[in-house]
Amino acid sequence: MADVNLLDLDAAGLAAFVASLGEKPFRARQLLRWIHRRGASRFDAMTDLAKSLRRKLTERATIAAPAVVRDSTSADGTRKWLLDVGQGNAIETVFIPEDDRGTLCVSTQAGCAVNCMFCSTGRQGFNRNLTTGEIVGQLWWAEHALRAALGLTAENERVISNVVLMGMGEPLQNYEAVVPALRLMLDDNAYGLSRRRVTVSTSGMVPQIDRLAADCPVALAVSLHAPNDRLRDELVPLNRKYPLRELLAACRRYLRSAPRDFITFEYVMLEGVNDGDAHARELIALTADVPCKFNLIPFNPFPGSALRRSPAERIRAFAQILTDAGIVTTTRKTRGDDIDAACGQLAGEVQDRTRRAERTTRRLPPVVAAAR
Ligand code: SAH
Ligand code: SF4
Repeated sequence: MADVNLLDLDAAGLAAFVASLGEKPFRARQLLRWIHRRGASRFDAMTDLAKSLRRKLTERATIAAPAVVRDSTSADGTRKWLLDVGQGNAIETVFIPEDDRGTLCVSTQAGCAVNCMFCSTGRQGFNRNLTTGEIVGQLWWAEHALRAALGLTAENERVISNVVLMGMGEPLQNYEAVVPALRLMLDDNAYGLSRRRVTVSTSGMVPQIDRLAADCPVALAVSLHAPNDRLRDELVPLNRKYPLRELLAACRRYLRSAPRDFITFEYVMLEGVNDGDAHARELIALTADVPCKFNLIPFNPFPGSALRRSPAERIRAFAQILTDAGIVTTTRKTRGDDIDAACGQLAGEVQDRTRRAERTTRRLPPVVAAAR
């Protein structure tokens, strides 16, 4: 029988697995704690498990996260790991230390099929969904590597306090693997993060937003990027399937079960494309009945992107219009851009199965071109 990777299993999955070995349910809890709270990767270290169980586990199971192939540290302390997920694909995970928190930015797919115009991951095309083990394995590996580097030994001395699913990929296009990974992040026997400190960022998968509300409500960030369908159809092609009216209705529904009482709207600032005063006013009207905050992201260029970042003064003026309308608005600090770890710069290595790079022309689409 093929080995089971225990990183693929949340509490319910582990309970079923230990039952299949003829073991009692509390063994699942012990295993969770060994793996996720203590970072164990070998069964012989699990001294409070009976020898016979350790032997069964050694025969039938593994604890395997993707292997690190590169480890880079930015001048600002941001750290990026390139992880091998096989067959020529590699994904990226970024740790962002701040005074009051440590945030890990996790990838959910090798590449991304949504193909937003301004995103380097999208440009790379799509290869495959990551497994639960590959998703939570990023947290497992980073948390324990960071603890070891700081000489922290107690299992409750956590380095990572927040997780954002904002790395490579569209998390809600990999729903079945993402939800067990989220459950492990929240599980008190694993990482014990509060729902408010785990954020799923989506480009607008409406049906899955509703499913997430029912299955595992965590903080939700929605990548808005445009105040009307004409422009959003070009910037975020998924908009043609789920237009703004439907997306905003899904946001309102989500708030009924969300752990926070607002949605975070992400908005990439593209010079001359979506950053005018009129765009800001249109946004205020669009989001009037959705309790929300705005997070403006200065565009991070990548080779061949054919777009420019809005000047700082323009971003300030844009933010001011939203603030004056009573919307809490922050501008994301660019972190780690010297190691290509900033938002939208994560490219990893993707063996594109959609042959996008060959199909994509460099010309700007009509609404974006006319705006510039
Ligand atoms: N696929 C999800 C999550 C990953 S992207 C999503 O799109 O929401 C995380 C955030 O970075 C998104 O808001 C995305 O639009 C933004 N982003 C992508 N490319 C960017 C770039 N080049 N510069 C700045 N932000 C970018
Ligand atoms: Fe995919 Fe998000 Fe990039 Fe769009 S911004 S291509 S959804 S990763």
